[in-house]
Amino acid sequence: MPEGRLTPEEILRDYPRLGPDDRFTFRCDPGVDCFTHCCANVSIVLAPYDVLRLKRALGLDSTEFLERYTISPFAPDQKIPAVLLKMDPETRRCPLVGEAGCRVYAHRPWACRMYPLGSAEPRNPTPTERGFHFLLREPLCHGHDQGGAWTVREWTQSQGVEEYDAMGALYRDLMLHEFWDQQEPLSPQKMEMYFMACYDLDRFRRFVFETRFLELFEVDEARVEAIRTDDEALLEFAMQWLRFSLLGERSMRLKPSVIAARRRAAQEAAARP
Ligand code: SF4
Ligand code: SF4
Repeated sequence: MPEGRLTPEEILRDYPRLGPDDRFTFRCDPGVDCFTHCCANVSIVLAPYDVLRLKRALGLDSTEFLERYTISPFAPDQKIPAVLLKMDPETRRCPLVGEAGCRVYAHRPWACRMYPLGSAEPRNPTPTERGFHFLLREPLCHGHDQGGAWTVREWTQSQGVEEYDAMGALYRDLMLHEFWDQQEPLSPQKMEMYFMACYDLDRFRRFVFETRFLELFEVDEARVEAIRTDDEALLEFAMQWLRFSLLGERSMRLKPSVIAARRRAAQEAAARP
């Protein structure tokens, strides 16, 4: 279940740090008197892999999923887009909760899997300053101190968090890049590019296959076939493309003919009186 948005300062100040073998006692099942209470009035930030899993679970194109189920609030100083699950405007409940609980339980977002645990990760981990977990104790949740004892590791394994962490690793690397320390907010065009590549994956696929994209970049045939049908492969490719186009890394290669044409054009422009 989801966590609210805590500031890093609040986490460091108020929450004891838990390692993988630290224990807590918790129970969450349809028998608790607070069942699904946490699926309302909450900010659930979605990572790209969350969106991929949810849109597929619901059988929707990513564009339709984003329009129907999410919001992307935007503040003037915000550097990159954020995507949150859209609570019902009247009930304030998550649009994916039903009488029997989460309607997409097998595909629920990372934050919903983790709850009541949260996690924090420093940008540059050192032996003394490493990532840690913390236990959220909110009045609405009555699952604490009942049921079985879990280590942090047992909890995350039981909730399928590892798969989400593995699929989110490239996105996490992108977000932890020092590029974001210095940069002003992205231009509207780059914001749009970022949003499409991270979240609107079916639109990104159309961008790759229905524009000159594959005429410009060297992408081997096996990869082209993979990204045509495989969402996970496409998301990985999208992260690679963002590193090329935003961070300026050599994570993609332009075709030699494109490089030669660009050189010729530059030389012609320089030779003009
Ligand atoms: S996605 Fe599922 S688990 Fe998460 S808040 Fe919505 S209904 Fe609850
Ligand atoms: S025990 Fe906590 S996490 Fe489980 S349903 Fe109740 S409020 Fe949600």
